[in-house]
Amino acid sequence: MEKLSRKIKIKKGDTVMAIAGRDRGKTGKVLRIYPRKSRVVVEGVNFVKKHMRKTRQDQEGGIIKRESPIQISNLAVFCKSCNRPVRIGITALSDGSKSRFCKRCKEMI
Ligand SMILES: [Zn+2]
Repeated sequence: MEKLSRKIKIKKGDTVMAIAGRDRGKTGKVLRIYPRKSRVVVEGVNFVKKHMRKTRQDQEGGIIKRESPIQISNLAVFCKSCNRPVRIGITALSDGSKSRFCKRCKEMI
């Protein structure tokens, strides 16, 4: 139950920082989210080498680097005003919509 109730507070376009793993300390923008796998693709984080086969004459074969999805639990939203990864809170606005804020400086994210 604990796992199911855990909300994903990261959205596409957010700036996040890797807080664990090989790329710890790196920041980037969220490009894609895979909610079922609890993984996201972050720009410039978790590069993996991929071998590409040369399929056409005009294509370059060889090894290319691609961002690979990273576990959400290894990421934290990066607050630009705090200049550090922070915990995010969610607050309900008067119109019923929800807004996210930095728990440290209370800035809206
Ligand atoms: Zn902040």
